[in-house]
Amino acid sequence: MVLRTTRTELDTDNWTMTEEAFDVVVVGSCMTDLVSQTPRLPKAGETIHGHKFFIGFGGKGANQCIQAARMGAKTAMVCKVGKDFFGENYIQNFKDNGVSTKFVGQTADDATGAASIIVNDAGENAIVIVAGANLLLGNADLLQALPALRCAKVLVCQLEVRPDTSLQALRLAQENNVKTIFNPAPAVPDLDPCFYRVSDVFCCNETETELLTGVVVANVEDAGRAGQELLRRGCSAVIITLGSQGCVVLSGQEPSSPFHHVPTEPVTAVDTTGAGDSFIGALAFYMSTYPTMPLHEIARRANQVAGISVQNIGTQTSYPSKEDLPNDLF
Ligand code: ADP
Repeated sequence: MVLRTTRTELDTDNWTMTEEAFDVVVVGSCMTDLVSQTPRLPKAGETIHGHKFFIGFGGKGANQCIQAARMGAKTAMVCKVGKDFFGENYIQNFKDNGVSTKFVGQTADDATGAASIIVNDAGENAIVIVAGANLLLGNADLLQALPALRCAKVLVCQLEVRPDTSLQALRLAQENNVKTIFNPAPAVPDLDPCFYRVSDVFCCNETETELLTGVVVANVEDAGRAGQELLRRGCSAVIITLGSQGCVVLSGQEPSSPFHHVPTEPVTAVDTTGAGDSFIGALAFYMSTYPTMPLHEIARRANQVAGISVQNIGTQTSYPSKEDLPNDLF
């Protein structure tokens, strides 16, 4: 399907930009996390008793969107859930967080994405992800969301939906001068090279960086070298997150661009699940709110936001809102 992409057609869309222009649009995944805490991981064919069960909201796309929304960005999520309990529940979660659900589709053809997670007392886990409805997000959904995609300040995509859907969304955004953030997660070794050229900011963690570049990221210098390789592939800027070491930032198309190491403040981390998504949600918020702010300053602030998320348990439950953050981050 060929999607219409030009701004001139916007006039015929009966679309009121002032009402509906979003700061941040995320095209991506929603997953319901079904978490069982057990003394140990069961063997094949075995049934064991666990200590605790809880349901959490996850999915990289939704996580990033919710972090941006909690910081005050006007956000919309473009995604697909099932016509089932988990889908309804997720839509309510978006509403509770002030995310527009205008482009959240519901399908009867598959179930809402789910991650069944078992965590043992040693903190090890076994996880089964069934992407379900997420893999049905396609061009028809992008077409419906087209006016929002064309008017957004920032578009964010990852790889938990079909890669061709993410790539098409990024292309549409780029053609309409919308800033793009691409998070190549979960990482794939054979990423379509077109993704680099449609990324204003290509943001990945150490593991993803290693898989994409073949450079083992053991320290900040390695991350800088890997970042230069990613820049050479065509992104406008690269951020590689480094857990408790913060991140490195590289801008410009020069292969020999210097990199900035942006350290973060030491904190006592209790649960780092979803830290990368908190960082990217914050990045999207800052890029949309302060379009001229230097990327290393944006990264410094995003480090602080993600640093707060790791001090609390859970994924979205650990993400700070504007009220939880110091004024000097705004
Ligand atoms: P991912 O969750 O994708 O593996 P990282 O582990 O690199 O990503 O973390 C993303 C960001 O979260 C880091 O750049 C940093 O800002 C913050 N962060 C993660 N772990 C810690 C930590 N132990 N202490 C402080 N900040 C952290």
